[in-house]
Amino acid sequence: MAGLKIRRVLVAGNWKMYKGPAETRAFLATFEPPDGVEVVLCPPYVSLTAAVESGLSVFAQNVHWAQEGAFTGEVSAAMLVELGVQGALVGHSERRQYFGETDETVARRVVAALGAGLRVIACVGESEEEREAGQTELILRLQAEAVRDAVGEHERLVIAYEPVWAIGTGKTATAEQAQEAHAFVKSLLDRPVLYGGSVKPENAAELLGEPDVDGALVGGASLDPGSFAAICRAAVR
Ligand code: PEP
Repeated sequence: MAGLKIRRVLVAGNWKMYKGPAETRAFLATFEPPDGVEVVLCPPYVSLTAAVESGLSVFAQNVHWAQEGAFTGEVSAAMLVELGVQGALVGHSERRQYFGETDETVARRVVAALGAGLRVIACVGESEEEREAGQTELILRLQAEAVRDAVGEHERLVIAYEPVWAIGTGKTATAEQAQEAHAFVKSLLDRPVLYGGSVKPENAAELLGEPDVDGALVGGASLDPGSFAAICRAAVR
């Protein structure tokens, strides 16, 4: 039917630097994701193979822009594809804050990952100081346009709106704040937008109930199979 958009909800668990292969297998032995929502796991590199064995969609937490080369400690998109990994997070605020990630390097990583056939969740979001200074839209514009100018509205690209002040702090954006930011990001780049920042079983349904919240990127609460499954259930449409 003309004009009808099928809304596909995606919930991704970013495990950060938690869970080696044994803990990954233990998680998967009890994790029961519901039908009706796409679930993605983003474990550390060393646990990717253990996660891929589960048959769930698995994304890496980063990816380098070169195919190979003298880049100690980095992993290329082709290497991830070889492992059966389906995609990568790019530009997470912890990468921007602690590892010198910039809008330029984010764009290069996105280009390489999509070029290799991976899917990408590219993260954008303002800091507390930026929000208080009234710069939220400016920051979102700079970050989202860096990605858009590099790859356009690529069909394997998803954006995650993650206000930095809400990540791992227990402070969550209100559903209205999330909706407002998501609608703004979509006005720049018409791709699905996930919300990330202290999503928990208790607040997931309200956030995911907003019309432009197309899923969630979950950090801390994705480490426990019970709470991650509860968030995934809240996303079922
Ligand atoms: C994240 O790591 O992307 C994240 C949103 O973390 P948390 O859910 O713990 O705030």
